[in-house]
Amino acid sequence: MAAEDHRWPCAQCGADLRFSPGDTALKCDHCGHVQPLPDAPPARQSALRELDLADALQDGLAPNDMEQVRITPCPNCGAQVEFQGATHATECPFCATPVAIGTGTERKIKPQAVLPFAIDERQGREAMVNWLGNLWFAPGGLVEYARKGRALSGLYVPYWTFDAATRSRYAGARGEYYYETRMVTVQVNGRNERRQERVRKTRWHAAAGWVSRRFDDLLVLASQSLPRRYTDALAPWDLGALRPYSADYLAGFTAEGYTVSLSDGQVIARQIMAAQINRDVRADIGGDEQRVDRIDTAYSAETFKHILLPIWMAAYKYNGKTYRFVVNGQTGKVQGERPYSAWKIAFAVLLAAAIGAAVFYISQNS
Ligand SMILES: [Zn+2]
Ligand SMILES: [Zn+2]
Repeated sequence: MAAEDHRWPCAQCGADLRFSPGDTALKCDHCGHVQPLPDAPPARQSALRELDLADALQDGLAPNDMEQVRITPCPNCGAQVEFQGATHATECPFCATPVAIGTGTERKIKPQAVLPFAIDERQGREAMVNWLGNLWFAPGGLVEYARKGRALSGLYVPYWTFDAATRSRYAGARGEYYYETRMVTVQVNGRNERRQERVRKTRWHAAAGWVSRRFDDLLVLASQSLPRRYTDALAPWDLGALRPYSADYLAGFTAEGYTVSLSDGQVIARQIMAAQINRDVRADIGGDEQRVDRIDTAYSAETFKHILLPIWMAAYKYNGKTYRFVVNGQTGKVQGERPYSAWKIAFAVLLAAAIGAAVFYISQNS
């Protein structure tokens, strides 16, 4: 099985088409020609397939659910970059290191769904510049640079989604508060005084029972190229807009291959589920305080999907430091390194000191 090469030539002029965010069409940057997506199946969330997790973990997925991809690992940061159609970029979008298009291929799980870009590069950049402009301590030069600097990279980032039905048996204890009054001796102006004091105590009762919960489309980032705290902060995503996978949506964009394996993804998903089940158990125990001694969870109906989510990304070198910003390609929410201007901070400290001195002066003279 050879890696597929996707190309999208313009029917009018032959130049490369790119997917046009917010539309369901491909657009030619050269002559403006617009043509509908050739292969994309009709948009229906119900058409999205879930794959069986146990099958996949035993490498038992149908050949149709796998694909052979050409991998281009970044020599600096290890990101696996898949260049699509019109993208001639040979720079890693995460660290701006030049990369040579790889010759090796790898068998990977095919994406089941893609969330197409809803906002274009101009809107993404506007969102980022606004966000930076609202950070009072951001260096003005950096904001200017972001406004005029080179285009953001449109990137499809790999995620796993997990579904599971869980049923958990637990044992623990419920703590209920009660109050007792006791007499204490306190020192008041150097003299001992006897006083009443209310003391809180906890009475514990054994508790045991069952909780159950269905998890639906729990998201786990399948990339190590961006800090998880950035991508987590881009949530929420409206997964109702997911479309059955078609390479058409990737025309002119870059897609990253997953570098977190399905089994590692499942471990992370189980941790997130366990934390939620623990909260469920505590709510079920009730009372003022809870002690959880053990939880045994049975998982069933475990399925997963491999999906791609859209992110606009910028990496800027400014005053010798690299700043990275990510913009949710669906909602325009921004996240990134918070830059600080030493000048603005020094000025703020001086201003605060001046105000403090003025307040002191006024209070002394009134
Ligand atoms: Zn054209
Ligand atoms: Zn890199």
